[in-house]
Amino acid sequence: MLFDHTESCAWFGMLKQMADSENILDRPLNQVGGLSAHVVRQLEKEGFSKVSDVVFYLPFRHEDRNKSEITAFQPSPVPVCHYVRVVKTSVRRFGNRRGSGSFEAIVEHASGLGLGHQLTLRWWNMTFMAKVIAEGHELVVHGKVKEWKGRLSMDHPEYEIVNGDEEDEGETIHAGRITPIYRLRGGMAQKSIRTAAWHVAAILPNHFVDDVLPRPRDDGEFAGMSRSFALKEIHFPASPAALEKARRYLALEEFYGFQLRVAKRRREMLSVPGNVMAAGDASLVGQFLDSLPFQLTAAQQRCVQEIHADMAAGRPMNRLLHGDVGSGKTIVAFAAMLRAVECGRQAALMAPTQILAEQHARNARKWLEPLGLRVALMTAARKEDGSGGEMILDSSGDALFSSAKPHLIIGTHALLHNDSLVTDLGLVVIDEQHKFGVAQRARLIKQGRAPDVLVMTATPIPRTLTLTIYGDLDVSTIDQRPQTGVTIVTKVRAANKLKDAAAFLGEQIAEGRQGYLVFPLIEESERTDAAAAVSGHETWSKLLAPHSVGLLHGRMSAEEKDLVMQRFRSGEFQALVSTTVIEVGIDVPNATVMYIHDASRFGLAQLHQLRGRIGRGAHASFCVLFVDDKDEDAKAKLAIMEETSDGFKIAEEDLIRRGPGNVLGHAQSGQAPLRFAELLADTRLVRLARQLADRTLDADPQLARPENRLARDLLAHLPTPGQGMLQ
Ligand code: ADP
Ligand code: MG
Repeated sequence: MLFDHTESCAWFGMLKQMADSENILDRPLNQVGGLSAHVVRQLEKEGFSKVSDVVFYLPFRHEDRNKSEITAFQPSPVPVCHYVRVVKTSVRRFGNRRGSGSFEAIVEHASGLGLGHQLTLRWWNMTFMAKVIAEGHELVVHGKVKEWKGRLSMDHPEYEIVNGDEEDEGETIHAGRITPIYRLRGGMAQKSIRTAAWHVAAILPNHFVDDVLPRPRDDGEFAGMSRSFALKEIHFPASPAALEKARRYLALEEFYGFQLRVAKRRREMLSVPGNVMAAGDASLVGQFLDSLPFQLTAAQQRCVQEIHADMAAGRPMNRLLHGDVGSGKTIVAFAAMLRAVECGRQAALMAPTQILAEQHARNARKWLEPLGLRVALMTAARKEDGSGGEMILDSSGDALFSSAKPHLIIGTHALLHNDSLVTDLGLVVIDEQHKFGVAQRARLIKQGRAPDVLVMTATPIPRTLTLTIYGDLDVSTIDQRPQTGVTIVTKVRAANKLKDAAAFLGEQIAEGRQGYLVFPLIEESERTDAAAAVSGHETWSKLLAPHSVGLLHGRMSAEEKDLVMQRFRSGEFQALVSTTVIEVGIDVPNATVMYIHDASRFGLAQLHQLRGRIGRGAHASFCVLFVDDKDEDAKAKLAIMEETSDGFKIAEEDLIRRGPGNVLGHAQSGQAPLRFAELLADTRLVRLARQLADRTLDADPQLARPENRLARDLLAHLPTPGQGMLQ
């Protein structure tokens, strides 16, 4: 596999609808020359009825099946392509079952070179191949070459029969070229869809769809390109360079769509009047900051200023507070919330998990109740049957239905479903934004009167992604950590070194410290995930006896989880076995050790998040990533964790290794609509898309002009929030 690029085709499904009617795209497949009735029927069953259905069904990757330059056959573990002539065929039957047996074709190189060299093509349980391939046929075959007892063979090769006509030799469809590979639906065969694409491409004129991208494109790279050209090229590219160019063009088009959306949303947000929240009388912010046992870092101060300036302005704030784990975002958020309270408004803080909401509420009470503020916690407790139930607590733990409205409301998404507490929301802070969708965000925003919105994320997303995902927001970055002087040592170690690890953790515990023992999510199922943690808990309880070890996993109820966290926080548990529920935001400064089991199952960004749970207090901290000793790939991947604790470097490495959807965590990437996702690494392309989008909107804010018809339709058909990664 050479180019593995596209994933979902949501985007193209919708572009398809935009294509002009009344043209060749509407021609039924049975009127396309060269397609057999069999192929047409097969495709019709899967919903391909006309030319456009095929044109917009893009290959998800390509294979380089260009013919091997080497004329002599030789063993090859990677598939190679040869142009061959059949010398002899035979069928071997095993037993009586129909079709059981094998079909073999002995072939030589079609060029006549490599004389005497033979290769056996073999199809198991496909004796009917005897009716397909015959002596004298010339074939282009593609597959791995094996050697056994001095004989070379290729099992179940991809093949195409070439009629032997010299002129046609260069025009094979399935091999002997850069070959498109399509995702298959139902009973459809790869060769059928590819054949259809080939014949459809053959009848398409140079211009068959209008461009979505505006002109001029200000960019030499795409000068002579058109949408029609790129679409043709992506099916049957003339060369790797041509394929790359077509992909980049279509990627630019896709980015243009997303940038139009974020740029338009940004313009709309800025056009509604917002709360004017300048410094209030109570000066709560000042009192709060003075009460802290430390000074804000310069970066924190700058962010607080930026946020306060936004809040004082007459337009709603839409700001992203972006800072690595441990950079101290919470305090900045509180400084923002207190400004809202000073001005007589309520402020809400929404966290992605109950544990985190509890932690924020605990901090809020510690810091803010002395200032005379009422803090409410609102989370959805999960009932036995898994349905959500609401639990509303005030600071004393009782149900809160008193007349005094809380100043600050802290909670999980349950916040969204209750407006009895939220009467006058001036500011909404959303922690760990990457866990929330835009739809949820929009819902919360609706509950207030165009409240200011501050979203926080610790995902150190590279600049390109910020532009794409948070393109509608202003960004404040905390690019500096509090100078705690604490180092975190990270080591990758063989999984069989548990005894040593336990001894080390024992020493740390003896010094009064605590540790996390993290187990990965297995098979994306909470059940198995919990099972791994449960058995891990048994193991570690023995290893660490007589110390007590807590257990935390996703199948526990919210109350149970909270109780375990409280007992860990209070030091009752010296160690905590956990699944990734602890990934986000947990702050227990006394914990100095983190062991991560099966570390290779985690993404780098996730490991970085996990590691951010330690090194938060005054003590040196230690992170060990356990991997299978023989797994060299895992060791190579994790090496960066030993080298750096810079989240941005790690995120970039992650982006390169895994593609951007994964950098943002599975929950968010879901079904990433970006088919050309890895191109996201290309800042230039994203910037160009943003420029084009801004220019389009400057000239035509409502996209009302005829030349922007396609762009308008494009926006209307973008995947709805909650599905895609641009949530
Ligand atoms: P994150 O950005 O990961 O959410 P937190 O807000 O949880 O980070 O802060 C991490 C830890 O650092 C907390 O224990 C917090 O009290 C502490 N902290 C925050 N700001 C400072 C500072 N300026 N000086 C010292 N410690 C700080
Ligand atoms: Mg945090």
